[in-house]
Amino acid sequence: MELDLTSIAPELQEELNRNVMFTTLETVKGWVRSNSLWPLTFGLACCAIEMMGTGGARYDLDRFGVIFRASPRQSDVMIVAGTVTKKMAPLLRRLYDQMPEPKWVIAMGSCATAGGPYVRSYSVVKGVDQIVPVDVYIPGCPPNPAALIYGINKLQEKIRYEAKTGKRVTSP
Ligand code: SF4
Repeated sequence: MELDLTSIAPELQEELNRNVMFTTLETVKGWVRSNSLWPLTFGLACCAIEMMGTGGARYDLDRFGVIFRASPRQSDVMIVAGTVTKKMAPLLRRLYDQMPEPKWVIAMGSCATAGGPYVRSYSVVKGVDQIVPVDVYIPGCPPNPAALIYGINKLQEKIRYEAKTGKRVTSP
């Protein structure tokens, strides 16, 4: 936002324009939240290996403020990485319910998004969005670290948008 500097001495106008800015508390909250995402470790199958690799030194998720936590009480993102079986589904939902608001979910890989290669199996949930609301879907079997990073970046954009507009957009 531009300052109205008409009543201020000209020598101060340039200095103020460079050093003062206005924003809203909601925008700051969105910016802060999007840059300090703490995912719950939720590796269920082979996609989890790619998620762990993304958290390691080579891809370095820490640089985005993403720090994995082992407790749902300390987490605000659930990255569902792998095959969700019907037996696992109630536990997944319970852990999601234990996470404090605001919280988001990333469905990583074709198993988590739609059942993947097990789409005909009697024991597999055909998409984790049948259990919890999903914010970002990442396709692939498995998605590589670059795809996960892209998905996290998209979630960050979404969090900033939601904070600015007050709208919550999830699926279903
Ligand atoms: S999407 Fe592919 S790599 Fe990921 S958990 Fe399913 S089978 Fe494994």
